[in-house]
Amino acid sequence: MIIKINNYEDGIHEFELSEKVEELGLEEKFFDKVKCRIKMDKSFSQVVLFCETSAFAHLTCDRCTEDFDAEVFNDFVLTYLVSGDDSKVSEDEGVYFLKPEQDRINISKDVKEYVNLSIPMKVLCDDNCKGLCLRCGTNLNNETCSCSQGEINPQWLPLMKLKDKLK
Ligand SMILES: [Zn+2]
Ligand SMILES: [Zn+2]
Repeated sequence: MIIKINNYEDGIHEFELSEKVEELGLEEKFFDKVKCRIKMDKSFSQVVLFCETSAFAHLTCDRCTEDFDAEVFNDFVLTYLVSGDDSKVSEDEGVYFLKPEQDRINISKDVKEYVNLSIPMKVLCDDNCKGLCLRCGTNLNNETCSCSQGEINPQWLPLMKLKDKLK
């Protein structure tokens, strides 16, 4: 994803870029195109990019183990300081140096990284996913099983016997 910064005057510009997941070199769980909405704040000394990515991914629910597809989002800020001196590059903080003669910015590496990070730590097909029955493995989103009915917690058996005797 390349932004030809020479094409833009100083000021705020909003636009959208997109690229196929294969071209960005993303993992196989991603498919279709990655979109990146960009708000660019350009001045003579720096270019700041506010980026919002959206991508499609094949995911597996951590609770019910069903596969499903979802759109995942992320946002980040990249700052490019115009300077002839690029010896103090601190890419970790999203700050890059831009040579005065440089006419384009390639954000593919950052977009790839942030799209990879857009998959949540805990993947759920739905916030209300009921998960699997721990006893029989039934997916409780689709069916109910009889495991929880009819069975008596062994802890209560002595008490119930006592109750019978008292009758
Ligand atoms: Zn689920
Ligand atoms: Zn069950």
